[in-house]
Order: sequence, then structure tokens, then C-alpha cells
Amino acid sequence: MAGMELIKYPELADLRNESFVIRCPFKNCNSRIIDSKSTTSTIGIKGSPNLLRFSSPVMISQEDNDEKLSNFYFVDDVWKFDNIGVSKPHDKHKDLRPIIFTQGDDNGKKIYIERLLICSDCDKGPLGFAGFLIDQEIEDTSTINKDAGNLKYFLSCDSILYQVL
Ligand SMILES: [Zn+2]
Repeated sequence: MAGMELIKYPELADLRNESFVIRCPFKNCNSRIIDSKSTTSTIGIKGSPNLLRFSSPVMISQEDNDEKLSNFYFVDDVWKFDNIGVSKPHDKHKDLRPIIFTQGDDNGKKIYIERLLICSDCDKGPLGFAGFLIDQEIEDTSTINKDAGNLKYFLSCDSILYQVL
């Protein structure tokens, strides 16, 4: 991987380049996670669990982003990933949290968080989360169909690095 240039999300957004590979942010890993063809455009989510974030210039820290609106790539099928690991979320994530899409058909839906996403090569993260999309009105989480096939994946734009193609 020597010499490969990786950029952060704000730089990618400036470039407006639509072809890129998403890689693990950890220096000694940089594993390929997914490519741009397998993701959607970004969506906004409020109240996500705490994930890895870049703070300037290169340090990575876990930041409290409970009330912040953050950008995520939505991936509807685990097989679209080249490499992704999952871990059990902290118990507090088991609650139904007011996480709401701000764009698209799923606007207003909540996400019942089932897993946190980690790099499957170095086991570090979390880089995002996986969960079930539910309608705003549902309060009783026991009625959710928790079939693994229904899981949706949310990769945090600020927790990963980009190789522009
Ligand atoms: Zn990694």
C-alpha cells in the first residue's frame, strides 16, 4: 500500500469525483472496504452512536455526536462490501434512538441499531453501524423483524479514507 494517496471526506467532497475506493483509516491497515459503485449518495443522520472521527490533522478520536447531523453512506446489502466486520453494540445502543434520515424516501425513519461496523482486517472502529429501518410511530421494539437479511448498513463519511480513482 506504500505511496497510495488517501484523502478525507471534506477533500473528497471538494473534488466532486464520483469514483473512489473507501479504505480503513488506520495507517498500518488501509484495507479496501467498499467502492463508490456499491454505495449510494450520502444521507444525513442525527443522533448516531459515537464513531471514530478525524480531528485535525490526522488524529482519530471517538467523538460524542449525539445531536450532530452527520453524513453516511447507505449500503443496503452486506455483500456489497469487500471487507467489513461487525461487533455487538453497547447496551445503550439497543434502545430505539431518534435517528432520522434527512433525505430521500426513508426521510423520517428511525434506525434500530443492531451492530457496529469495524474493519474486518484490523478489527478497529467503529466506522459505522448496521440496523433495521422502522417507521417513526413504532414504539414497541419487539415488533421489529430482526431478520439479518433486513439489516441496513451505514458507513460514516468522516470515519474512513478515500482513494480517488
Ligand atoms: Zn483496518
